[in-house]
Amino acid sequence: MVTIVSMLAVMALCAGFMLLSYVARRRGFELKKIGKPLALVLVLVSFARYIYDQAAVYDLVGLSDPNSPFSSAFLTFVGVMLIWLSYAAMLTIVLGEFFEFKTLKQLINCFSIPTYLLIFAIFGVYGIAAFGEELYAFSTVRLWLLILEVALAISIPAIRYIGGEKIELPHSKAEGVRLLYTAPLAMLAIMPCYVPQALFEKLDETLMLFDFTEEHRFMLYFSIIIPYLIYLGVKDKTPEAKRFLMIYLSVGLMWVYLGRWNLEMLENPLSWPLHLCNTAMFLVPLCLIFEMEKLFNFCLYINVMGAFLAMIMPTDLSGANALATERVSFWVNHYAAFFMPVLLVALKIFKRPKFRQWVYAVIALTVYFIAMLIVNAWFSNYGECDYFFLNSDFIVSKLGKWAEDTRNFVVQFTTPGGLKFVFYPVYQALFYLVYIGFTVGIWFLYAVLFTSWDAAEDRRNREKDYKRMKKELKEYLGGRSIHEPVGGDASPRLTLSHFSKRYGSNKHYSVNDVSFDVRGGEIFGFLGPNGAGKSTIIKSVVGIQTITSGNIEICGFDVERQPVQAKLHTGFVPDHYALYENLTGREYINYIADLFQVGYDYRNEVIEKYVERFQLTGSFDNQMKTYSHGMKQKITIMAALVHNPKVWILDEPLTGLDPTSIYEVKECMKEHAAKGNIVFFSSHIIDVVEKICDRIAIIKKGKLRACTTIRELEEKGIELEEFYLSIINDGDDSHVPYTENESVGGAASV
Ligand code: ADP
Repeated sequence: MVTIVSMLAVMALCAGFMLLSYVARRRGFELKKIGKPLALVLVLVSFARYIYDQAAVYDLVGLSDPNSPFSSAFLTFVGVMLIWLSYAAMLTIVLGEFFEFKTLKQLINCFSIPTYLLIFAIFGVYGIAAFGEELYAFSTVRLWLLILEVALAISIPAIRYIGGEKIELPHSKAEGVRLLYTAPLAMLAIMPCYVPQALFEKLDETLMLFDFTEEHRFMLYFSIIIPYLIYLGVKDKTPEAKRFLMIYLSVGLMWVYLGRWNLEMLENPLSWPLHLCNTAMFLVPLCLIFEMEKLFNFCLYINVMGAFLAMIMPTDLSGANALATERVSFWVNHYAAFFMPVLLVALKIFKRPKFRQWVYAVIALTVYFIAMLIVNAWFSNYGECDYFFLNSDFIVSKLGKWAEDTRNFVVQFTTPGGLKFVFYPVYQALFYLVYIGFTVGIWFLYAVLFTSWDAAEDRRNREKDYKRMKKELKEYLGGRSIHEPVGGDASPRLTLSHFSKRYGSNKHYSVNDVSFDVRGGEIFGFLGPNGAGKSTIIKSVVGIQTITSGNIEICGFDVERQPVQAKLHTGFVPDHYALYENLTGREYINYIADLFQVGYDYRNEVIEKYVERFQLTGSFDNQMKTYSHGMKQKITIMAALVHNPKVWILDEPLTGLDPTSIYEVKECMKEHAAKGNIVFFSSHIIDVVEKICDRIAIIKKGKLRACTTIRELEEKGIELEEFYLSIINDGDDSHVPYTENESVGGAASV
């Protein structure tokens, strides 16, 4: 009778919800908007039923326990499993309204809704397992809450579908497999503490999970292994997915933990869960749901320490079977308080705290400690009260008898209302100091942990990068040696193909899709206003800057993938020289020649030639810090030429030089090109460019705007200055008048 009426009530409620949603939709109401409030109602209804009293199967020891509300072990099994399933189903349906994950939707459709449909189909079994045969009656408030819960759990997803949402089901084998392991994991995170005892009965009553017995140590190892496995499974998920999974886990664990209370017990404040490890069960989900950083730091320093102490010195539960509900509850509680905060930092859901946060946490601990001192003294008027174990001696006793004797100093007073307050100032101060000592230890432990964690992560990342780069290079070289040019032979050549460069996180490209090709024997002038991108191109060519896209080859060597080979063929004179000025000119040139492995005979020949030419004879053996700007520039030129590079690159080399020096530099450039090499330089001095260059390129706002030969300009009777200004003043930047395609290899058209 109760079952039939309950089922009818569920059906009526579902039909009512459907009808209302249908009408609301017809009237243009967005059904999505009511999902969240309904989900909150569901969780409240479910929680009210849950906290009202423990399930009837809570104390079962084995499926054939005579205290089972069912006479058959099979029905007991079904009842225990159904209750367990319903917790996971409820939590997934509620969170499904707040998170939009495909797997979560599939889990709700393939697991949570069927679970509630099953509960509906065998309502009587669920009701009796939850309330016991006697209380499975209309007079039980919980029965009506259950009816509402089942109706809401079925209706909430259904309303989404009425609102037009597609029913998400697994579409591939991989998605199906994912569901197959997601569902058990979702259940594991919210397994009621009595399940092992109910399903597996007694194992071993003498099992000791304290005082570092073998079994106790096992439990301690698991407190590290479990979070590590969770970390491995979750670390590569998106931040939102990580947050969702951790909310699910922490709420699930809190739910499981709360299972040991009922309203009657909570009426007595002496049994409220105010110990440090207990509070973590509530604080962690709160921190996650409301993103409370400061509160989280309290969990990280104080709760973790509390849980750690409790785990290494757990309450003696001898006599309880190995899978006893209180034992499972103890470990669920302390594991979660111990590893959840650390896991959340490892997963980067919360930032690593700084020392200052430790100070705040200690201040909060002090306030908590004082509050608990007062509460303990006050509540002791009504019964035994031991919040935070302040009245126990389990820590101080480890320090010896002298510490225990500190309890003999007593301060007590009675209020006018007759309440007696008793304090043990010395004992309690000692207790406090021990705790502070532990927080210092925890802080230190984190500092060491974070440092070694970073080092390991850094090493892993570098190894990964190195392997990836090695693989890419191998593929790129296609079986060739790194010493062979990838782009043909090693003859003098400089090629840019679709080169683009963007600095850091800049949105704009400083150089955008530039291509050109310079051949041996050419002096190539590079013109453009300030900020056009000339230095950027030059820096990428010589390997000072990275390449965002496209590629650059020097004498057939890829500058990114064969940097050493490309550099061996390059000489570079930067716009701002940077010399080791404590060295003499000779020492410096020899040092550069050593780097490029230039033989002594050749380098001495070059040095002699340039020292004479640049009139450095008297000063070459003086420290360079005594040199003028022009002399330093000449040293830079010598350093760039000492290994006779096939490609000589100069970034605005004539700036600040006197006329004689300008002449000398120009002569060097001509000479170098005459030997079949490339001279590639940027300059603002158009006359010089016109006189010595074979070919020029003009760049504006990061784009190549022209690439042509001086001869061609002369034949057309156009002066370079006039040509340059016409390009620079042309307002239409999308139009590219002279491109590399028209002028490859010097065959430019104007
Ligand atoms: P040019 O040499 O033609 O005067 P640059 O190549 O120095 O021009 O600069 C081209 C653009 O790139 C400019 O907008 C400049 O602000 C930007 N840029 C150059 N160097 C950097 C850098 N190190 N970081 C960020 N932006 C840069």
